[in-house]
Amino acid sequence: MAAKNTEKRFDLPGLRRIVMLIVGSILLGVALFSDHGNMQIEGLFFGILLGGVNWIVLHYLLAKIAGPLAFGRVWCGWACWFGMIFDLLPYPYSRFRRKGAWDRVRYAHFIISLAVVVGLWFAAGYQDGAHGTSGYVWFLVGLIAYYVIGIALAFKLKDNRAFCKYLCPLAVLLKTGSRFSLLKIKGTAAKCDSCNVCVERCPMNIRIPDYILKGERVGSTECTLCVTCINICPTNALSLSVGLDAGGKEHTDFVPPRFFKED
Ligand code: SF4
Ligand code: SF4
Repeated sequence: MAAKNTEKRFDLPGLRRIVMLIVGSILLGVALFSDHGNMQIEGLFFGILLGGVNWIVLHYLLAKIAGPLAFGRVWCGWACWFGMIFDLLPYPYSRFRRKGAWDRVRYAHFIISLAVVVGLWFAAGYQDGAHGTSGYVWFLVGLIAYYVIGIALAFKLKDNRAFCKYLCPLAVLLKTGSRFSLLKIKGTAAKCDSCNVCVERCPMNIRIPDYILKGERVGSTECTLCVTCINICPTNALSLSVGLDAGGKEHTDFVPPRFFKED
């Protein structure tokens, strides 16, 4: 039986929320008060259609495509200006994930956003969605819409990160690179007593022991590297690791706890 560490833990999830609030606010401030253009996903599509290198494309290349190859979805756990607000809502531990169609909504969102931009560009001749007043208004309206929808969904599903799990179109890009991430959570199987505390506290409902008991790193592309699991594990079985693997296996918790009741 693995030895339990009963020392009082440092409140790492609380510190992460503060760090995220600071980092996310700075990034949002830069995006809003500089001339970087429309940072919504539609801004990226307009930016690509415009051709050449611009801030929007550069941001997505670094933060959403190349970055995840090294640091996984650390953006979602430590820097996202939507997540920083969602994490302050009352439901940090949702305890289970919704199945089926819920998992496909973000892909539909991504495709619809792309179709809208392509349609506006080629069919309506509208090419101003990336920059200038038009791009700025698009960015602002998108920001407000994501906050309103994300907060409403969090309350509806009793899950702070519901928007991130089901609706966020950026996850489509982030998940692609993060499966190969150098940085991932690893575990020592001999230390794990399958208590499932880490699963209960994982904001993304990842079944962490399903990986580490097989000697694998946590290869879920849902992991935001929030490190809550490392902090909470009573046997200190988990840690951050740097390595090479293809990840991509999804072990997530779909089973609602017995006491859970839908409203
Ligand atoms: S890794 Fe998870 S299941 Fe294993 S001992 Fe730690 S908290 Fe419990
Ligand atoms: S697996 Fe650990 S680091 Fe990844 S999202 Fe869950 S709690 Fe956070």
